[in-house]
Amino acid sequence: MEINAYSLCPGGTGKKIKFCCPECIPHLEKLTRMAEGEQYKAALAALESAERALPDKPCLLHAKIRLLDRVNAWEESDRVKQVFFEKHPDNPVALAQAVGLTEDVDEAFDRFEKAWAACRRQETVYPELLEALEDIADILEQNGAECGALHFLRVAAGLDEGRNEVIADRVWEFNSRLPLILRIPMEFCPVGAGTPWEDRKEEVRRCWIFRFRRL
Ligand SMILES: [Zn+2]
Repeated sequence: MEINAYSLCPGGTGKKIKFCCPECIPHLEKLTRMAEGEQYKAALAALESAERALPDKPCLLHAKIRLLDRVNAWEESDRVKQVFFEKHPDNPVALAQAVGLTEDVDEAFDRFEKAWAACRRQETVYPELLEALEDIADILEQNGAECGALHFLRVAAGLDEGRNEVIADRVWEFNSRLPLILRIPMEFCPVGAGTPWEDRKEEVRRCWIFRFRRL
């Protein structure tokens, strides 16, 4: 696949690839081809040699984290996220990915809010910001704040169309642990055959997503 030099750098710099990292383009093209062919190990090796020539580039760090996550190399992925965050502490993608690196609730919120503010400045919402909502939910759950965790999962499910079935499973599981009055509606969940409003599920889902987009 050709990399579009005029698309936004996925590494969170807020610039088009052509202006933020033109020298990364041939490397990114090669990596994309390898990843499409599911040659993840080879892609990681190529990435490491690209990094030696072009150290600490946000788009390469971003690509490396994506590849490491693909091969379930979670510890190494966290290590690279930490490096990305240290080298680029104002970058919204680095900040959003650093949310899941801390177990401290206040620190997690601080990173999330900075990531959110940086996204607003760039007028872009990176997918990593939505993923960070799930990280916040995990941290709140670990700290015993289940209602707060559920709230963040609900927001994540409303915004992240690609993942809302996965998140809905978690919301369902959470709901079953809470007292009835604190449970949340499951409007966005997959609707089985025979549900009375089955033919209107798309309309309901759109409403739900629209509500969160307006926040
Ligand atoms: Zn870039």
